[in-house]
Amino acid sequence: MVLAANAMRVMDKVIGIAPLVYEAGYKFDAIDIYTEGSSNFDKVGGFKLSDENTRCVTIGRPVLHEILLDGCREYEKLIDVRYSAKLMEIKESDEGVTAVLEDKSEIRGESFA
Ligand SMILES: Cc1cc2nc3c(=O)[nH]c(=O)nc-3n(C[C@H](O)[C@H](O)[C@H](O)COP(=O)(O)OP(=O)(O)OC[C@H]3O[C@@H](n4cnc5c(N)ncnc54)[C@H](O)[C@@H]3O)c2cc1C
Repeated sequence: MVLAANAMRVMDKVIGIAPLVYEAGYKFDAIDIYTEGSSNFDKVGGFKLSDENTRCVTIGRPVLHEILLDGCREYEKLIDVRYSAKLMEIKESDEGVTAVLEDKSEIRGESFA
């Protein structure tokens, strides 16, 4: 998959795993998208980066997921990864938000004010 520069800025500034993603993926600086079947392959999209330090990356989803999961493990007190947990209801209040799972367990989070 492609991680555009704005995604890589999040990886860098918010969760600090950009170096691992850059190392595991293929780095590039611009995307041009072409229409299929166009005789002259018209450009239908693309962008250049304004920040020279932030690049785009192509990386396999499973590889990215492993890097993200490893990042979560470092913050295991903050991030609780649960598999096969089905969300049934979301309750919102002034105090925050509560997710109700299929097994009736509840996960609470603070609201951003
Ligand atoms: C073919 C394809 C190619 C793409 N390529 C790119 C790309 O190259 N670059 C890029 O930046 N974006 C790409 N995208 C878009 C990108 O995948 C999505 O924008 C991104 O995955 C959205 O993330 P999300 O966490 O919001 O949702 P999702 O990744 O859809 O995650 C939502 C998750 O919630 C789960 N879920 C749903 N209902 C419940 C429930 N009741 N309880 C518990 N879990 C539930 C789902 O099973 C799913 O795992 C692509 C999308 C597609 C379809």
